[in-house]
Amino acid sequence: MVIQTMWKDRLSFDDLAGLAGEKIRERIGRLQAMGCGLLRFAVPDLGAAEVLGRLAAMVSMPLVADIHFDYKIALRCLDYPIAKIRINPGNIGSRTQVEKVLSASTAKGIPIRIGVNAGSLPRDLAARIDAGELTRAEALVEAAERELAIFREFDFHDCLVSMKASSVADTIRANRLLAERTDAPLHLGVTEAGPLIAGVVRNTAALLTLLGEGVGDTIRVSLSDTMENEVIAGREILHTAAETSEWARKRQGALKRGVTIVSCPRCGRNGFDTHGFTSRWLDTLYAMDKDITIAIMGCVVNGPGESRHADLGITGAGNKVLLFRHGEVIRTINAAVADEAFREELEKL
Ligand code: SF4
Repeated sequence: MVIQTMWKDRLSFDDLAGLAGEKIRERIGRLQAMGCGLLRFAVPDLGAAEVLGRLAAMVSMPLVADIHFDYKIALRCLDYPIAKIRINPGNIGSRTQVEKVLSASTAKGIPIRIGVNAGSLPRDLAARIDAGELTRAEALVEAAERELAIFREFDFHDCLVSMKASSVADTIRANRLLAERTDAPLHLGVTEAGPLIAGVVRNTAALLTLLGEGVGDTIRVSLSDTMENEVIAGREILHTAAETSEWARKRQGALKRGVTIVSCPRCGRNGFDTHGFTSRWLDTLYAMDKDITIAIMGCVVNGPGESRHADLGITGAGNKVLLFRHGEVIRTINAAVADEAFREELEKL
């Protein structure tokens, strides 16, 4: 199971140079450490293809080129060490153009992702939905099957399918239906799912249902929020799927648990700002390559209890902060130096 996210801005060559380029490489490295296995980029023109090509040579993260309509952009991207392209053979033009893309893709061993979206279905399928002849889920499946049929025509099989809708029910129905009809791997996600909370809830509902039924190979939790939060949400969904589904557990055999964060919601008893501390440390903790539990608690009511199971715990206690290791207090400090002390203890794990 692979977690994917998508770069949220357009990049230029200037962005890849000097300090700016360093920061981008660092960010991509951190996303990878957090568990992102594929990073997709919109490639709207040939200029963007050149930038992506250069970036692909600078990072170890597998990069995906997301292309609409123009086969020439796909061909240019295929000149570079990218991991995948997303393009629909049904809308890139003539048979010759399709053949060129598929031949180049085969020669380079680069798979193609078909991307069908409920918001941009072929006109005839949209009309049949309006006429009540098809459900939206059925229309998504039919659109995907049309694209798959083109691949079959050219004897091209290195592909996967993504069918996205902003409705949880349509996402579930469409993927269930297509999974019964094809062996092609499926990329799952609720698209345009909204801001952080709404988006995580909608994606969790759809993905846990499908993963629990044995459907799905890659996932993206699309959010109007950061890439890091998309990856964290994806990780938590996969781990929850592994806890609740035998199939998902087997598929994710090699998936590392990584850091488990137990943090309290905070209340009037708090002696320590768990919210601020958790958000400051979130990305760093998720990027750690260790299977450990960290407890971040506001006060001694539940702090010591939770920290008993934690490899490292931090808890407010009056005007002090306590650091625990497996329930044993290892340091008593002032809140002002809590981050520094936490970092020191974290490095010892
Ligand atoms: S640990 Fe303390 S501060 Fe946090 S929610 Fe529980 S009682 Fe409130």
